[in-house]
Amino acid sequence: MEKEEAKRLFKKLKIRTLLDLALILPATYEDRRLSQELIPSKEHVLQVKVISTRNSGGKLYATLYMTAFNQQIDAIFFKATAYHLKTFAVGANLVVSGRVTTFKGNLQLTQPKSISQYGVVIPKYRVKVIKESQMRALIQKYLNKNLLLKEGLTDKEADTLLKLHFPDRYNFEISKEGLSDEITQILKFIESFNHIKKLKSKKEFYPAISRLDNDPGDFISSLPFELTSDQWRAISDIRKDLLQTDRAAKRVIIGDVGSGKTIVILASAVMAKGKGAVLMAPTSILCKQIYEEALKFLPKDMKIALVMQGSMEGDYRNADFVIGTHALLYLDDLPKASLVMVDEQHRFGTNQRAMLEAMVSKGEKRPHYLQFSATPIPRTQAMMESEMIDVSLIEHTPFEKLIHTEVIGKKDFKRLLAHIESELKQNHQILIVYPLVESSEEIPYQSIDEARGFWEKRYDGVYVTHGKDKNKEKVLQEFRDKGKILLATTVIEVGISLPQLTTIVIVGAERLGLATLHQLRGRVGRNGLESRCFLYTNKPDSKRLAQFAKTTNGFDIAKLDLKYRASGDILDGTIQSGQKFKWLDLAEDEHIIEEAKRRIRYIESN
Ligand code: ADP
Ligand code: MG
Repeated sequence: MEKEEAKRLFKKLKIRTLLDLALILPATYEDRRLSQELIPSKEHVLQVKVISTRNSGGKLYATLYMTAFNQQIDAIFFKATAYHLKTFAVGANLVVSGRVTTFKGNLQLTQPKSISQYGVVIPKYRVKVIKESQMRALIQKYLNKNLLLKEGLTDKEADTLLKLHFPDRYNFEISKEGLSDEITQILKFIESFNHIKKLKSKKEFYPAISRLDNDPGDFISSLPFELTSDQWRAISDIRKDLLQTDRAAKRVIIGDVGSGKTIVILASAVMAKGKGAVLMAPTSILCKQIYEEALKFLPKDMKIALVMQGSMEGDYRNADFVIGTHALLYLDDLPKASLVMVDEQHRFGTNQRAMLEAMVSKGEKRPHYLQFSATPIPRTQAMMESEMIDVSLIEHTPFEKLIHTEVIGKKDFKRLLAHIESELKQNHQILIVYPLVESSEEIPYQSIDEARGFWEKRYDGVYVTHGKDKNKEKVLQEFRDKGKILLATTVIEVGISLPQLTTIVIVGAERLGLATLHQLRGRVGRNGLESRCFLYTNKPDSKRLAQFAKTTNGFDIAKLDLKYRASGDILDGTIQSGQKFKWLDLAEDEHIIEEAKRRIRYIESN
């Protein structure tokens, strides 16, 4: 096979490394070794001589002599073609494959096939995008022990892969029960080893624009609260990053809603004091919140500016710290900055994030780059991703929120109404999340359109918004100031703070991923008010929902999510999830990932 042809096939298979190829294992094997014994109702490969034939009613009967067993067997073809007549002519010596059955006490072969390749076990890859023969040719050409050892596998690991691809050569018996535990463990290892190596190869280094060495100590001690230990750790990770000049930081800080990421953002801005820091956040409400916090907490000699579509505060051209929405991307005189931060990074496209970074870069040099994410990922995933981008986790929130979660159904509706009444009497607010705006046949729950009449008739201060609502932010702001009940779709995910919100009802909760449910539930109890989350469902015995109801820690929920589906749908771009592993189980195999990381580090240091 030509190199060019191989390249084309690799592309079709969407693979990039030798181990990618090696990990495409045969889906099954066709055993074409000559049968050693006759076992009824099993597939056989037999060396035969055609003794006699009889042609009747379109059928062909042939009596075959089985050399190995010194015995005859009848073969039947239900629709005899010219091909059959020619192949199974009296006197022909053949090797046939087919199922042996017993018919009226006699052995019989039903529609056997004449085969030319026998005495071998043929792996069947069944990859669909390329032909079986092409797949085999790739494996033949590229898979060998030397290359596998060069990739960093041990003898045993390399042999395991080779055995699975070339069972004959290695005298390897494929068990009908599937792969042994030992082999599965090895495959898990190779899979994570390969994945981590690939992530690592994506890591890019650029020199930093500046070393940012302003001490955030005074700022931290001026705060009206103590930092949590996770906040400390994130800040000190960042401090180490920003002191580098040969390497611009690339770090993601992941912490639940309410885990106190804004303080980490502000501390970073303090470290960059005098050298230019920019923060992009997804909504103007959020920008304003951060701006207000910045005015309140940052040293008074820091110049802070706010940039939003149609409204500005301060002078961004001369600020130490510019906070803005994506309106930042449309400025043509945004000064160079040595620190770029993106809050709620997953709400931006990869392009938008790259654009901001490029806008404030200087030639080869890049600003230090910090991303903040409110979507917890499982520890195991963070362990792997940290090979590509540095990761700081803020796993604990400053105060435990008091949120009681309950799975409810139709029969609980009266009780729900009573609860809503009593909350409204205390001036608390209610959020009800519906699956859709308009009604749909496919979804067995009410839509906003169907439900709003019910609420509007009963209560004042009912507000409605949804994803495509152009006035979403205005509605949310008005609701925050004077609303009672907000009807919305899941878009309410956007990070705005509704301090009086104490109850969320999620209609059709079983239809949503745990990550989304968690984001939604994070809307209530933001001011420490005791709160409730009702998961309204037609399937009240859902185990997944029951488990979700028991914890409020986002990292625990990410792990639960893993248990209930292959992987999360969570972040885009830089941190990829939804990564499907064939053998590796992110929920269980932490030690294997650790071992793979250790091996990679060992190889690099030698
Ligand atoms: P996030 O951005 O992670 O969702 P915020 O930064 O908005 O969370 O913080 C939520 C609230 O917690 C804010 O009112 C903030 O002032 C407060 N906060 C942050 N850190 C602490 C802390 N260590 N102790 C007490 N309160 C804190
Ligand atoms: Mg935040």
